[in-house]
Amino acid sequence: MEEEKNEVVLKNFIQKIIEEDIKNGKNGGAVITRFPPEPNGYLHIGHAKSICLNFGLAKQYGGRTNLRFDDTNPAKEENEYIDSIQADVKWLGFDWGGKPCYASDYFEKMYQLAVQLIKAGKAYVDDLSADEIREYRGTLTEPGKESPYRNRTVEENLDLFERMKNGEFPDGSKTLRAKIDMASGNLNLRDPVMYRIVRVEHPRQGNKWCIYPMYDWAHGLEDSIEGITHSICTLEFESHRPLYDWFLDQLPEMHHPQQIEFARLNLNYTVMSKRKLLRLVKEGYVKGWDDPRMPTVSGLRRRGYSPESIREFAARIGVAKMDSIVDIAMLEFCLREDLNKRALRRMVVLDPLKVIIDNYPEGQVEWFDGENNPEEENSGTRKIPFTKELYIEREDFMIDPPKKYFRLSPGKEIRLKHAYYITCNSYKTDENGKVTEVHCTYDPASKGGWTEDGRKVKGTSHWVSAQENIKVDVRLYDRLFTKENPDEDGDFISCINPDSCKVLEGCLAEVSLKEAKPGEYYQFLRQGYFSPDPDSTEEKLVFNRSVSLKDSWTPPRS
Ligand code: ATP
Ligand code: MG
Repeated sequence: MEEEKNEVVLKNFIQKIIEEDIKNGKNGGAVITRFPPEPNGYLHIGHAKSICLNFGLAKQYGGRTNLRFDDTNPAKEENEYIDSIQADVKWLGFDWGGKPCYASDYFEKMYQLAVQLIKAGKAYVDDLSADEIREYRGTLTEPGKESPYRNRTVEENLDLFERMKNGEFPDGSKTLRAKIDMASGNLNLRDPVMYRIVRVEHPRQGNKWCIYPMYDWAHGLEDSIEGITHSICTLEFESHRPLYDWFLDQLPEMHHPQQIEFARLNLNYTVMSKRKLLRLVKEGYVKGWDDPRMPTVSGLRRRGYSPESIREFAARIGVAKMDSIVDIAMLEFCLREDLNKRALRRMVVLDPLKVIIDNYPEGQVEWFDGENNPEEENSGTRKIPFTKELYIEREDFMIDPPKKYFRLSPGKEIRLKHAYYITCNSYKTDENGKVTEVHCTYDPASKGGWTEDGRKVKGTSHWVSAQENIKVDVRLYDRLFTKENPDEDGDFISCINPDSCKVLEGCLAEVSLKEAKPGEYYQFLRQGYFSPDPDSTEEKLVFNRSVSLKDSWTPPRS
Protein backbone atom coordinates (compact mmCIF):
# COMPACT_ATOMS: atom_id res chain seq x y z
CA MET A 1 0.00 0.00 0.00
CA GLU A 2 2.62 2.49 1.08
CA GLU A 3 5.16 0.85 -1.14
CA GLU A 4 5.74 3.67 -3.59
CA LYS A 5 6.78 5.91 -0.70
CA ASN A 6 9.60 3.64 0.42
CA GLU A 7 13.13 3.59 -0.93
CA VAL A 8 12.81 -0.06 -1.94
CA VAL A 9 9.82 -0.14 -4.24
CA LEU A 10 7.80 -3.33 -3.89
CA LYS A 11 6.41 -4.64 -7.13
CA ASN A 12 2.82 -5.81 -7.47
CA PHE A 13 2.12 -9.15 -9.12
CA ILE A 14 1.37 -7.63 -12.51
CA GLN A 15 4.62 -5.68 -12.54
CA LYS A 16 6.45 -8.88 -11.68
CA ILE A 17 4.88 -10.69 -14.64
CA ILE A 18 5.70 -7.83 -16.99
CA GLU A 19 9.31 -7.58 -15.80
CA GLU A 20 9.76 -11.32 -16.27
CA ASP A 21 8.38 -11.01 -19.81
CA ILE A 22 10.72 -8.14 -20.61
CA LYS A 23 13.66 -10.12 -19.23
CA ASN A 24 12.75 -13.06 -21.45
CA GLY A 25 12.39 -10.84 -24.50
CA LYS A 26 8.72 -11.76 -24.92
CA ASN A 27 7.02 -9.52 -27.51
CA GLY A 28 10.44 -8.00 -28.16
CA GLY A 29 10.24 -6.38 -24.73
CA ALA A 30 7.19 -4.31 -25.70
CA VAL A 31 4.45 -3.46 -23.22
CA ILE A 32 1.17 -2.57 -24.91
CA THR A 33 -1.92 -2.37 -22.74
CA ARG A 34 -5.43 -1.11 -23.38
CA PHE A 35 -8.45 0.30 -21.65
CA PRO A 36 -11.52 -1.20 -23.37
CA PRO A 37 -14.79 0.36 -22.12
CA GLU A 38 -18.12 -0.50 -23.63
CA PRO A 39 -19.67 2.88 -24.54
CA ASN A 40 -22.89 2.18 -22.68
CA GLY A 41 -22.47 4.59 -19.76
CA TYR A 42 -20.15 7.08 -18.10
CA LEU A 43 -16.92 5.98 -16.47
CA HIS A 44 -16.87 5.45 -12.70
CA ILE A 45 -14.16 5.30 -10.06
CA GLY A 46 -13.74 1.55 -10.72
CA HIS A 47 -12.89 2.33 -14.31
CA ALA A 48 -10.48 4.97 -13.04
CA LYS A 49 -8.60 2.25 -11.18
CA SER A 50 -8.32 0.25 -14.40
CA ILE A 51 -7.26 3.34 -16.36
CA CYS A 52 -4.53 4.26 -13.86
CA LEU A 53 -3.33 0.66 -13.86
CA ASN A 54 -3.20 0.18 -17.63
CA PHE A 55 -1.81 3.60 -18.55
CA GLY A 56 0.47 3.55 -15.50
CA LEU A 57 2.08 0.22 -16.39
CA ALA A 58 2.66 1.19 -20.02
CA LYS A 59 4.23 4.45 -18.92
CA GLN A 60 6.43 2.73 -16.36
CA TYR A 61 7.78 0.24 -18.89
CA GLY A 62 8.07 2.57 -21.88
CA GLY A 63 5.08 1.16 -23.70
CA ARG A 64 1.74 2.52 -24.79
CA THR A 65 -1.95 2.12 -24.09
CA ASN A 66 -4.86 1.98 -26.50
CA LEU A 67 -8.21 3.46 -25.66
CA ARG A 68 -10.60 1.06 -27.33
CA PHE A 69 -14.34 1.30 -27.50
CA ASP A 70 -15.79 -2.16 -27.22
CA ASP A 71 -18.80 -1.24 -29.35
CA THR A 72 -20.11 -4.68 -30.22
CA ASN A 73 -23.57 -4.27 -28.67
CA PRO A 74 -25.24 -1.40 -30.56
CA ALA A 75 -28.52 -1.68 -28.66
CA LYS A 76 -27.03 0.04 -25.58
CA GLU A 77 -24.32 2.23 -27.03
CA GLU A 78 -24.38 5.96 -27.68
CA ASN A 79 -22.05 8.64 -28.97
CA GLU A 80 -22.61 10.70 -25.83
CA TYR A 81 -20.81 7.95 -23.91
CA ILE A 82 -17.96 7.85 -26.40
CA ASP A 83 -17.38 11.58 -25.93
CA SER A 84 -17.63 11.52 -22.15
CA ILE A 85 -15.23 8.57 -21.86
CA GLN A 86 -12.55 10.38 -23.87
CA ALA A 87 -13.01 13.55 -21.84
CA ASP A 88 -12.70 11.59 -18.59
CA VAL A 89 -9.57 9.65 -19.55
CA LYS A 90 -7.92 12.90 -20.68
CA TRP A 91 -8.93 14.67 -17.50
CA LEU A 92 -7.42 11.86 -15.45
CA GLY A 93 -4.17 12.78 -17.17
CA PHE A 94 -3.69 10.00 -19.71
CA ASP A 95 -2.98 10.02 -23.43
CA TRP A 96 -3.75 7.20 -25.83
CA GLY A 97 -1.64 8.71 -28.61
CA GLY A 98 -3.79 9.74 -31.53
CA LYS A 99 -7.14 8.22 -32.33
CA PRO A 100 -9.07 5.83 -30.15
CA CYS A 101 -9.68 2.32 -31.45
CA TYR A 102 -13.11 0.82 -32.10
CA ALA A 103 -13.95 -2.86 -31.96
CA SER A 104 -16.43 -2.23 -34.76
CA ASP A 105 -13.54 -1.42 -37.10
CA TYR A 106 -12.60 -5.11 -36.84
CA PHE A 107 -16.03 -6.54 -37.70
CA GLU A 108 -14.94 -7.54 -41.20
CA LYS A 109 -11.74 -9.16 -39.91
CA MET A 110 -13.69 -11.00 -37.20
CA TYR A 111 -16.12 -12.24 -39.80
CA GLN A 112 -13.27 -13.62 -41.91
CA LEU A 113 -11.77 -15.33 -38.87
CA ALA A 114 -15.15 -16.91 -38.09
CA VAL A 115 -15.29 -18.24 -41.65
CA GLN A 116 -11.82 -19.67 -41.07
CA LEU A 117 -13.08 -21.50 -37.96
CA ILE A 118 -16.04 -22.90 -39.89
CA LYS A 119 -13.70 -24.16 -42.61
CA ALA A 120 -11.62 -25.89 -39.95
CA GLY A 121 -14.76 -27.58 -38.63
CA LYS A 122 -14.56 -25.57 -35.41
CA ALA A 123 -17.78 -23.58 -35.67
CA TYR A 124 -21.32 -24.28 -36.80
CA VAL A 125 -24.63 -22.56 -37.44
CA ASP A 126 -27.24 -23.51 -34.89
CA ASP A 127 -31.03 -23.20 -35.20
CA LEU A 128 -31.78 -23.61 -31.50
CA SER A 129 -33.48 -20.64 -29.87
CA ALA A 130 -31.79 -18.72 -27.09
CA ASP A 131 -33.93 -20.54 -24.52
CA GLU A 132 -33.08 -23.94 -25.98
CA ILE A 133 -29.39 -23.12 -26.02
CA ARG A 134 -29.62 -22.27 -22.34
CA GLU A 135 -31.50 -25.52 -21.64
CA TYR A 136 -29.01 -27.63 -23.57
CA ARG A 137 -26.10 -26.00 -21.76
CA GLY A 138 -26.32 -28.17 -18.64
CA THR A 139 -25.12 -27.08 -15.21
CA LEU A 140 -21.96 -27.16 -13.14
CA THR A 141 -22.81 -30.70 -12.10
CA GLU A 142 -24.43 -31.97 -15.31
CA PRO A 143 -22.91 -32.03 -18.78
CA GLY A 144 -24.65 -30.21 -21.59
CA LYS A 145 -26.43 -31.75 -24.55
CA GLU A 146 -25.25 -31.41 -28.13
CA SER A 147 -27.43 -29.45 -30.51
CA PRO A 148 -29.02 -31.51 -33.30
CA TYR A 149 -27.48 -28.97 -35.73
CA ARG A 150 -23.96 -29.48 -34.41
CA ASN A 151 -22.84 -31.81 -37.17
CA ARG A 152 -23.77 -29.80 -40.22
CA THR A 153 -21.20 -29.99 -42.98
CA VAL A 154 -18.65 -27.27 -43.51
CA GLU A 155 -20.32 -26.35 -46.82
CA GLU A 156 -23.73 -26.00 -45.22
CA ASN A 157 -22.30 -23.91 -42.34
CA LEU A 158 -20.44 -21.60 -44.73
CA ASP A 159 -23.59 -21.12 -46.79
CA LEU A 160 -25.84 -20.48 -43.77
CA PHE A 161 -23.39 -18.11 -42.10
CA GLU A 162 -23.06 -16.05 -45.23
CA ARG A 163 -26.83 -15.88 -45.54
CA MET A 164 -27.08 -14.88 -41.86
CA LYS A 165 -24.80 -11.97 -42.69
CA ASN A 166 -26.84 -11.11 -45.79
CA GLY A 167 -29.98 -10.74 -43.75
CA GLU A 168 -31.89 -13.76 -45.00
CA PHE A 169 -33.01 -14.92 -41.56
CA PRO A 170 -35.06 -13.22 -38.86
CA ASP A 171 -33.53 -11.90 -35.63
CA GLY A 172 -32.71 -14.60 -33.13
CA SER A 173 -33.44 -17.48 -35.50
CA LYS A 174 -29.86 -18.68 -35.88
CA THR A 175 -26.48 -18.32 -34.20
CA LEU A 176 -22.93 -19.22 -35.01
CA ARG A 177 -21.38 -21.33 -32.25
CA ALA A 178 -17.88 -22.58 -31.55
CA LYS A 179 -17.62 -26.37 -31.64
CA ILE A 180 -15.71 -27.18 -28.48
CA ASP A 181 -17.07 -29.53 -25.82
CA MET A 182 -20.59 -29.73 -24.41
CA ALA A 183 -19.28 -31.77 -21.49
CA SER A 184 -16.53 -29.36 -20.46
CA GLY A 185 -16.25 -28.64 -16.75
CA ASN A 186 -15.92 -24.97 -17.76
CA LEU A 187 -19.33 -23.83 -18.95
CA ASN A 188 -17.77 -21.14 -21.09
CA LEU A 189 -16.36 -23.90 -23.29
CA ARG A 190 -19.73 -25.54 -23.99
CA ASP A 191 -20.05 -24.39 -27.57
CA PRO A 192 -20.32 -20.65 -26.83
CA VAL A 193 -22.28 -18.44 -29.21
CA MET A 194 -20.03 -16.33 -31.44
CA TYR A 195 -22.63 -14.43 -33.51
CA ARG A 196 -26.27 -13.56 -33.16
CA ILE A 197 -28.69 -11.97 -35.60
CA VAL A 198 -30.03 -8.60 -34.45
CA ARG A 199 -31.17 -5.75 -36.62
CA VAL A 200 -30.03 -2.68 -34.74
CA GLU A 201 -28.37 0.30 -36.36
CA HIS A 202 -24.78 0.66 -35.20
CA PRO A 203 -23.54 4.18 -34.25
CA ARG A 204 -20.50 3.78 -36.50
CA GLN A 205 -21.44 1.00 -38.93
CA GLY A 206 -24.98 2.04 -39.66
CA ASN A 207 -26.98 -0.84 -41.08
CA LYS A 208 -24.04 -2.63 -42.63
CA TRP A 209 -24.35 -5.55 -40.21
CA CYS A 210 -27.27 -7.55 -38.92
CA ILE A 211 -25.06 -10.09 -37.20
CA TYR A 212 -22.98 -8.93 -34.23
CA PRO A 213 -20.13 -10.76 -32.50
CA MET A 214 -20.59 -11.84 -28.89
CA TYR A 215 -18.25 -10.39 -26.25
CA ASP A 216 -16.35 -13.63 -25.71
CA TRP A 217 -15.56 -14.04 -29.39
CA ALA A 218 -14.80 -10.39 -30.01
CA HIS A 219 -12.82 -9.34 -26.98
CA GLY A 220 -9.80 -11.60 -27.32
CA LEU A 221 -9.61 -10.83 -31.04
CA GLU A 222 -9.63 -7.10 -30.41
CA ASP A 223 -6.61 -7.47 -28.14
CA SER A 224 -4.95 -9.76 -30.64
CA ILE A 225 -5.54 -7.49 -33.66
CA GLU A 226 -4.11 -4.50 -31.78
CA GLY A 227 -1.04 -6.44 -30.66
CA ILE A 228 -1.82 -5.99 -26.99
CA THR A 229 0.87 -7.72 -24.95
CA HIS A 230 -0.76 -7.68 -21.51
CA SER A 231 -4.51 -7.81 -21.45
CA ILE A 232 -5.42 -6.78 -17.93
CA CYS A 233 -8.98 -7.42 -16.81
CA THR A 234 -11.07 -8.06 -13.74
CA LEU A 235 -11.36 -11.42 -11.97
CA GLU A 236 -14.71 -12.48 -13.42
CA PHE A 237 -12.94 -13.10 -16.73
CA GLU A 238 -10.58 -15.68 -15.28
CA SER A 239 -12.88 -18.54 -16.29
CA HIS A 240 -13.20 -17.06 -19.79
CA ARG A 241 -9.45 -17.13 -20.36
CA PRO A 242 -9.43 -20.81 -21.51
CA LEU A 243 -11.99 -19.87 -24.15
CA TYR A 244 -9.97 -16.88 -25.40
CA ASP A 245 -6.93 -19.13 -25.50
CA TRP A 246 -8.90 -21.80 -27.41
CA PHE A 247 -10.01 -19.31 -30.06
CA LEU A 248 -6.48 -18.04 -30.59
CA ASP A 249 -5.10 -21.58 -30.66
CA GLN A 250 -7.38 -22.27 -33.63
CA LEU A 251 -5.98 -19.18 -35.36
CA PRO A 252 -2.23 -19.75 -35.09
CA GLU A 253 -1.30 -16.80 -37.32
CA MET A 254 -2.87 -14.41 -34.80
CA HIS A 255 -0.89 -12.67 -32.03
CA HIS A 256 -1.62 -14.15 -28.61
CA PRO A 257 -1.82 -11.59 -25.77
CA GLN A 258 -1.46 -12.64 -22.15
CA GLN A 259 -4.52 -12.06 -20.02
CA ILE A 260 -3.92 -11.11 -16.38
CA GLU A 261 -6.79 -10.75 -13.92
CA PHE A 262 -7.01 -8.45 -10.89
CA ALA A 263 -9.71 -7.70 -8.30
CA ARG A 264 -12.18 -4.99 -9.26
CA LEU A 265 -12.64 -1.98 -7.02
CA ASN A 266 -15.63 -2.04 -4.68
CA LEU A 267 -16.39 0.96 -2.47
CA ASN A 268 -18.72 1.00 0.52
CA TYR A 269 -21.80 3.29 0.42
CA THR A 270 -21.55 3.14 -3.37
CA VAL A 271 -23.07 1.26 -6.28
CA MET A 272 -20.74 0.87 -9.22
CA SER A 273 -22.44 -1.10 -11.94
CA LYS A 274 -23.32 0.98 -14.97
CA ARG A 275 -26.75 -0.61 -15.08
CA LYS A 276 -27.49 0.71 -11.58
CA LEU A 277 -25.95 4.11 -12.22
CA LEU A 278 -28.08 4.39 -15.37
CA ARG A 279 -31.15 3.66 -13.28
CA LEU A 280 -30.27 6.42 -10.81
CA VAL A 281 -30.03 8.82 -13.73
CA LYS A 282 -33.04 7.63 -15.74
CA GLU A 283 -35.38 7.51 -12.78
CA GLY A 284 -34.30 10.92 -11.54
CA TYR A 285 -32.74 9.98 -8.20
CA VAL A 286 -29.81 12.17 -9.20
CA LYS A 287 -29.60 15.08 -11.63
CA GLY A 288 -27.45 13.32 -14.22
CA TRP A 289 -24.38 11.20 -14.77
CA ASP A 290 -22.24 14.06 -13.47
CA ASP A 291 -24.27 14.72 -10.34
CA PRO A 292 -21.68 15.40 -7.60
CA ARG A 293 -23.10 12.48 -5.59
CA MET A 294 -22.35 9.97 -8.35
CA PRO A 295 -19.19 7.81 -8.23
CA THR A 296 -18.63 8.63 -11.90
CA VAL A 297 -15.45 10.38 -12.97
CA SER A 298 -17.56 13.29 -14.21
CA GLY A 299 -19.48 13.39 -10.91
CA LEU A 300 -16.26 13.42 -8.90
CA ARG A 301 -14.87 16.16 -11.14
CA ARG A 302 -17.97 18.28 -10.62
CA ARG A 303 -17.83 17.61 -6.91
CA GLY A 304 -14.34 19.10 -6.88
CA TYR A 305 -12.09 16.05 -6.97
CA SER A 306 -8.72 16.60 -8.60
CA PRO A 307 -7.23 14.07 -11.05
CA GLU A 308 -4.18 13.92 -8.77
CA SER A 309 -6.29 12.76 -5.83
CA ILE A 310 -7.89 9.99 -7.89
CA ARG A 311 -4.54 8.80 -9.21
CA GLU A 312 -3.18 8.79 -5.66
CA PHE A 313 -6.19 6.77 -4.54
CA ALA A 314 -5.59 4.24 -7.30
CA ALA A 315 -1.96 3.95 -6.27
CA ARG A 316 -2.83 3.48 -2.61
CA ILE A 317 -5.39 0.74 -3.14
CA GLY A 318 -2.95 -1.16 -5.34
CA VAL A 319 -3.85 -4.35 -7.18
CA ALA A 320 -4.76 -7.68 -5.67
CA LYS A 321 -6.06 -11.09 -6.67
CA MET A 322 -8.77 -11.07 -4.01
CA ASP A 323 -12.00 -9.09 -4.01
CA SER A 324 -12.43 -6.64 -1.15
CA ILE A 325 -14.34 -3.49 -0.26
CA VAL A 326 -12.50 -0.21 0.08
CA ASP A 327 -13.66 2.45 2.57
CA ILE A 328 -14.89 5.54 0.74
CA ALA A 329 -13.23 7.56 3.52
CA MET A 330 -9.93 6.60 1.93
CA LEU A 331 -10.93 8.34 -1.29
CA GLU A 332 -11.87 11.41 0.73
CA PHE A 333 -8.55 11.24 2.57
CA CYS A 334 -6.69 11.35 -0.76
CA LEU A 335 -8.67 14.43 -1.79
CA ARG A 336 -7.98 16.30 1.46
CA GLU A 337 -4.31 15.47 1.28
CA ASP A 338 -4.08 16.85 -2.25
CA LEU A 339 -6.25 19.94 -1.76
CA ASN A 340 -4.57 20.89 1.49
CA LYS A 341 -1.46 21.55 -0.61
CA ARG A 342 -3.11 23.71 -3.26
CA ALA A 343 -6.62 24.89 -2.43
CA LEU A 344 -6.88 28.66 -2.03
CA ARG A 345 -8.07 29.68 1.44
CA ARG A 346 -11.16 31.86 1.53
CA MET A 347 -13.70 33.02 4.10
CA VAL A 348 -17.36 32.21 3.55
CA VAL A 349 -20.08 32.41 6.19
CA LEU A 350 -22.71 29.74 5.65
CA ASP A 351 -25.10 30.71 8.46
CA PRO A 352 -24.61 34.44 9.00
CA LEU A 353 -24.94 36.29 12.35
CA LYS A 354 -24.41 40.05 12.30
CA VAL A 355 -21.59 41.57 14.35
CA ILE A 356 -21.35 45.34 14.88
CA ILE A 357 -18.03 46.85 15.98
CA ASP A 358 -19.25 49.79 18.05
CA ASN A 359 -15.93 51.64 18.20
CA TYR A 360 -15.08 51.22 14.50
CA PRO A 361 -15.58 54.28 12.24
CA GLU A 362 -18.77 54.28 10.20
CA GLY A 363 -18.17 54.02 6.44
CA GLN A 364 -14.52 53.02 6.74
CA VAL A 365 -13.20 50.10 4.68
CA GLU A 366 -9.85 48.59 5.52
CA TRP A 367 -8.25 46.04 3.19
CA PHE A 368 -6.35 43.26 4.89
CA ASP A 369 -4.01 40.78 3.23
CA GLY A 370 -4.86 37.12 3.65
CA GLU A 371 -2.47 34.39 2.58
CA ASN A 372 -3.79 32.20 -0.22
CA ASN A 373 -2.30 29.03 1.19
CA PRO A 374 -0.07 28.70 4.25
CA GLU A 375 1.01 25.23 3.01
CA GLU A 376 2.48 26.60 -0.17
CA GLU A 377 5.31 29.07 -0.47
CA ASN A 378 4.74 31.96 -2.87
CA SER A 379 1.03 31.27 -3.10
CA GLY A 380 0.44 35.01 -2.67
CA THR A 381 -2.26 36.91 -0.85
CA ARG A 382 -5.68 38.33 -1.50
CA LYS A 383 -7.33 41.52 -0.22
CA ILE A 384 -10.12 41.21 2.34
CA PRO A 385 -12.33 44.21 3.17
CA PHE A 386 -13.07 44.95 6.84
CA THR A 387 -16.00 47.18 7.88
CA LYS A 388 -17.96 48.23 10.97
CA GLU A 389 -20.66 45.62 10.28
CA LEU A 390 -19.64 42.05 9.64
CA TYR A 391 -21.02 38.55 9.66
CA ILE A 392 -19.66 35.58 11.52
CA GLU A 393 -20.93 32.01 11.65
CA ARG A 394 -23.99 31.74 13.91
CA GLU A 395 -22.42 28.78 15.70
CA ASP A 396 -19.44 30.98 16.59
CA PHE A 397 -21.45 32.90 19.19
CA MET A 398 -23.10 31.61 22.35
CA ILE A 399 -24.86 33.56 25.09
CA ASP A 400 -24.14 31.04 27.76
CA PRO A 401 -21.34 28.81 26.55
CA PRO A 402 -20.18 25.56 28.11
CA LYS A 403 -16.58 25.22 29.30
CA LYS A 404 -14.06 24.80 26.49
CA TYR A 405 -16.10 26.92 24.09
CA PHE A 406 -13.46 29.18 22.60
CA ARG A 407 -15.57 31.26 20.26
CA LEU A 408 -17.38 34.52 20.94
CA SER A 409 -19.57 35.01 24.02
CA PRO A 410 -20.37 37.99 26.29
CA GLY A 411 -17.19 39.42 27.78
CA LYS A 412 -14.89 37.15 25.73
CA GLU A 413 -12.25 38.18 23.24
CA ILE A 414 -11.50 36.37 19.96
CA ARG A 415 -9.50 36.99 16.84
CA LEU A 416 -11.16 37.74 13.54
CA LYS A 417 -8.89 35.97 11.06
CA HIS A 418 -6.40 38.32 9.34
CA ALA A 419 -8.07 41.39 10.98
CA TYR A 420 -8.47 42.37 14.66
CA TYR A 421 -9.17 41.12 18.14
CA ILE A 422 -12.76 41.85 19.16
CA THR A 423 -14.53 41.59 22.51
CA CYS A 424 -18.24 41.03 22.88
CA ASN A 425 -20.12 43.62 24.96
CA SER A 426 -23.78 42.89 24.31
CA TYR A 427 -26.23 41.26 21.97
CA LYS A 428 -29.84 41.56 20.82
CA THR A 429 -32.47 38.89 20.40
CA ASP A 430 -35.86 38.66 18.70
CA GLU A 431 -39.12 37.70 20.41
CA ASN A 432 -38.14 34.01 20.24
CA GLY A 433 -34.83 34.57 21.94
CA LYS A 434 -32.89 34.10 18.73
CA VAL A 435 -29.79 36.27 18.62
CA THR A 436 -30.11 38.94 15.90
CA GLU A 437 -26.92 40.93 16.39
CA VAL A 438 -23.81 40.96 18.50
CA HIS A 439 -22.06 44.17 19.61
CA CYS A 440 -18.31 44.23 20.05
CA THR A 441 -15.37 46.57 20.39
CA TYR A 442 -12.13 46.04 18.54
CA ASP A 443 -8.60 46.63 19.70
CA PRO A 444 -6.86 48.89 17.13
CA ALA A 445 -3.51 47.61 18.44
CA SER A 446 -4.31 44.09 17.21
CA LYS A 447 -4.23 44.98 13.54
CA GLY A 448 -3.55 41.97 11.32
CA GLY A 449 -4.69 39.61 14.00
CA TRP A 450 -1.91 39.86 16.62
CA THR A 451 -0.80 42.20 19.41
CA GLU A 452 2.58 43.45 20.59
CA ASP A 453 1.84 42.58 24.18
CA GLY A 454 1.61 38.94 23.06
CA ARG A 455 -1.87 38.62 24.50
CA LYS A 456 -3.40 35.30 23.52
CA VAL A 457 -6.93 34.54 22.46
CA LYS A 458 -8.21 31.02 22.23
CA GLY A 459 -10.57 31.35 19.32
CA THR A 460 -10.27 32.56 15.74
CA SER A 461 -13.35 33.09 13.65
CA HIS A 462 -13.79 33.61 9.94
CA TRP A 463 -15.95 36.56 8.93
CA VAL A 464 -17.23 38.52 5.97
CA SER A 465 -17.97 42.24 5.66
CA ALA A 466 -21.68 43.06 5.73
CA GLN A 467 -21.26 45.62 2.93
CA GLU A 468 -18.37 44.30 0.83
CA ASN A 469 -19.30 40.71 0.01
CA ILE A 470 -20.93 38.48 -2.55
CA LYS A 471 -23.87 36.17 -2.01
CA VAL A 472 -23.36 32.55 -3.05
CA ASP A 473 -25.24 29.28 -2.85
CA VAL A 474 -23.57 26.31 -1.27
CA ARG A 475 -24.46 22.65 -1.77
CA LEU A 476 -23.51 20.28 1.02
CA TYR A 477 -23.49 16.57 0.25
CA ASP A 478 -23.92 13.47 2.28
CA ARG A 479 -23.60 9.85 1.13
CA LEU A 480 -26.10 8.85 -1.54
CA PHE A 481 -26.90 5.63 0.31
CA THR A 482 -27.59 5.07 3.97
CA LYS A 483 -26.22 1.53 3.98
CA GLU A 484 -22.62 0.50 3.79
CA ASN A 485 -23.68 -2.17 1.31
CA PRO A 486 -26.53 -0.60 -0.70
CA ASP A 487 -27.31 -3.97 -2.30
CA GLU A 488 -27.81 -5.67 1.05
CA ASP A 489 -31.59 -6.03 0.66
CA GLY A 490 -31.43 -6.63 -3.05
CA ASP A 491 -32.79 -3.18 -3.86
CA PHE A 492 -30.34 -0.31 -3.64
CA ILE A 493 -33.09 2.22 -4.40
CA SER A 494 -34.65 1.54 -0.99
CA CYS A 495 -31.63 2.89 0.90
CA ILE A 496 -31.16 6.12 -1.02
CA ASN A 497 -30.43 8.89 1.48
CA PRO A 498 -33.23 11.50 1.20
CA ASP A 499 -30.90 14.16 2.65
CA SER A 500 -27.91 13.61 0.41
CA CYS A 501 -27.93 17.18 -0.88
CA LYS A 502 -28.57 20.24 1.25
CA VAL A 503 -28.67 23.64 -0.48
CA LEU A 504 -27.76 26.75 1.51
CA GLU A 505 -28.88 29.91 -0.23
CA GLY A 506 -27.57 33.37 0.50
CA CYS A 507 -24.26 32.43 2.06
CA LEU A 508 -21.84 35.34 2.30
CA ALA A 509 -18.45 35.10 0.66
CA GLU A 510 -15.47 37.42 0.57
CA VAL A 511 -15.25 39.48 -2.59
CA SER A 512 -12.11 37.81 -3.91
CA LEU A 513 -14.28 34.80 -4.82
CA LYS A 514 -16.12 36.82 -7.44
CA GLU A 515 -14.11 35.40 -10.33
CA ALA A 516 -14.18 31.79 -9.13
CA LYS A 517 -14.67 29.21 -11.89
CA PRO A 518 -15.53 25.51 -12.12
CA GLY A 519 -12.38 23.42 -11.96
CA GLU A 520 -10.84 25.58 -9.23
CA TYR A 521 -10.23 24.37 -5.70
CA TYR A 522 -10.92 26.35 -2.53
CA GLN A 523 -10.81 25.78 1.16
CA PHE A 524 -13.47 27.74 3.00
CA LEU A 525 -11.98 28.19 6.45
CA ARG A 526 -13.36 25.63 8.90
CA GLN A 527 -16.03 24.47 6.40
CA GLY A 528 -14.15 22.19 4.05
CA TYR A 529 -13.03 22.13 0.44
CA PHE A 530 -15.31 23.66 -2.19
CA SER A 531 -15.42 23.99 -5.94
CA PRO A 532 -17.65 26.17 -8.14
CA ASP A 533 -20.45 24.24 -9.84
CA PRO A 534 -21.15 24.68 -13.57
CA ASP A 535 -24.66 25.81 -12.57
CA SER A 536 -23.03 29.10 -11.51
CA THR A 537 -24.15 32.20 -13.42
CA GLU A 538 -22.91 35.78 -13.74
CA GLU A 539 -25.37 36.70 -11.00
CA LYS A 540 -24.85 33.86 -8.61
CA LEU A 541 -22.00 31.50 -7.88
CA VAL A 542 -22.87 28.01 -6.71
CA PHE A 543 -20.29 26.00 -4.76
CA ASN A 544 -20.17 22.27 -4.13
CA ARG A 545 -18.59 21.04 -0.95
CA SER A 546 -16.12 18.45 -2.17
CA VAL A 547 -15.28 17.15 1.29
CA SER A 548 -15.32 18.41 4.85
CA LEU A 549 -12.09 19.14 6.71
CA LYS A 550 -12.37 16.38 9.23
CA ASP A 551 -10.76 13.05 8.61
CA SER A 552 -12.42 9.78 9.37
CA TRP A 553 -9.67 7.70 7.82
CA THR A 554 -5.94 7.63 8.49
CA PRO A 555 -3.35 5.75 6.51
CA PRO A 556 -2.07 2.54 8.06
CA ARG A 557 1.37 2.80 9.63
CA SER A 558 4.11 1.09 7.70
P1 ATP B 1 -19.89 -2.17 -15.13
O1 ATP B 1 -19.86 -3.47 -14.40
O2 ATP B 1 -19.86 -0.96 -14.25
O3 ATP B 1 -20.97 -2.09 -16.17
P2 ATP B 1 -18.09 -3.04 -17.06
O4 ATP B 1 -16.98 -3.91 -16.64
O5 ATP B 1 -19.22 -3.70 -17.70
O6 ATP B 1 -18.52 -2.11 -15.86
P3 ATP B 1 -16.64 -1.97 -19.21
O7 ATP B 1 -16.96 -0.81 -20.05
O8 ATP B 1 -16.64 -3.31 -19.83
O9 ATP B 1 -17.63 -1.90 -18.01
O10 ATP B 1 -15.28 -1.73 -18.45
C1 ATP B 1 -14.09 -1.32 -19.06
C2 ATP B 1 -12.91 -1.74 -18.23
O11 ATP B 1 -13.01 -1.26 -16.91
C3 ATP B 1 -12.85 -3.25 -18.15
O12 ATP B 1 -11.54 -3.65 -18.49
C4 ATP B 1 -13.15 -3.56 -16.72
O13 ATP B 1 -12.38 -4.65 -16.29
C5 ATP B 1 -12.77 -2.29 -15.99
N1 ATP B 1 -13.60 -2.12 -14.80
C6 ATP B 1 -14.94 -1.99 -14.75
N2 ATP B 1 -15.36 -1.89 -13.47
C7 ATP B 1 -14.26 -1.94 -12.68
C8 ATP B 1 -14.04 -1.88 -11.26
N3 ATP B 1 -15.03 -1.75 -10.40
N4 ATP B 1 -12.76 -1.97 -10.83
C9 ATP B 1 -11.75 -2.09 -11.70
N5 ATP B 1 -11.88 -2.15 -13.03
C10 ATP B 1 -13.13 -2.08 -13.53
MG1 MG C 1 -17.97 -5.22 -19.06
